[in-house]
Amino acid sequence: MSFDDRNTAFAELDMRRMKAAEDARLRERELEKRIEGLAELNKEIMAIGPKLLRLGMEGGADYEAKSKALHKEHEALIDKKHDLLIKNGYPSDYDLPVYSCKICKDTGFIDMKICNCVRDSIVRRAYYSSGLGKALEDQTFETIDVSYYAGNTESGASVKEQMSYVLDYCKKYAMYFTPGAESLLMIGGAGRGKTHFASAIGRTVIDKGYSVVYESATNIVNTFESERFGRDLEADPSKYYSCSLLIIDDLGTEFNTQFSLSAIFNLINHRIINGLSTIVTTNLSLKEIETNYKERIFSRLSGEFTVLPFCGRDIRRIKKEAR
Ligand SMILES: [Zn+2]
Repeated sequence: MSFDDRNTAFAELDMRRMKAAEDARLRERELEKRIEGLAELNKEIMAIGPKLLRLGMEGGADYEAKSKALHKEHEALIDKKHDLLIKNGYPSDYDLPVYSCKICKDTGFIDMKICNCVRDSIVRRAYYSSGLGKALEDQTFETIDVSYYAGNTESGASVKEQMSYVLDYCKKYAMYFTPGAESLLMIGGAGRGKTHFASAIGRTVIDKGYSVVYESATNIVNTFESERFGRDLEADPSKYYSCSLLIIDDLGTEFNTQFSLSAIFNLINHRIINGLSTIVTTNLSLKEIETNYKERIFSRLSGEFTVLPFCGRDIRRIKKEAR
């Protein structure tokens, strides 16, 4: 995680902490209107601080005893306030700020160490900006069920066995991922779980602290077109070049033009040359890739990518039949 990511996470915590304090003040004001005597009590509590301060400056022989008495008075007033809140049907801590992280009280630190919530917030933001957001939220390794892979392949092998092997391969790939890891080509018909496997890898790699971008081939081509033809000034394909892992989903569904072919080829080629990892999923067979994508893309994909075949029947259909 970068310095910027961490700063953004801390800035967000600062906002949350201030919001929690402000909300608490609003609740306090509301309570003062509703509960008789509370406003006066709060004034008494607030007056203790300045009294202690004055005492500290004046010093004197009886400083210890006087300071102790003031602290006792403060405690008694707080107890009285709690009783008053409870008597009126409120929790005794109703006036206190509610922090999103109870451990560090939204300061981001515990005992001078960075709290886990800072790291979690960086990871959450990374999920969001990776494209692995809401829609793919449940697509983790835990939710992959190999029992849906039934029957045999054309060559007579057990589909379940083969897919268990692919699953194991993907889990290890994700677990030991470092920038520059091999690139993967996930091949197989629609509904065989390629997107699910790829996004599960993406999630694990983000958890390890690396940058991941997940995007459909169609969107990638659209972004390049928008940038090239100035249709969208926000279009920024640079993330496709810089992330540690790029997942190009559904190659073959994008509109096939000279422009899209060279955009995809240049991107894949750039990543290979710079030692960056890419995962491509496609419904096309190797033969179809060869015909649709011309020699140079085909040779890049078949030569530099590890091919993972996804077999069996369409899982979405099997699930529908089972209902
Ligand atoms: Zn925390």
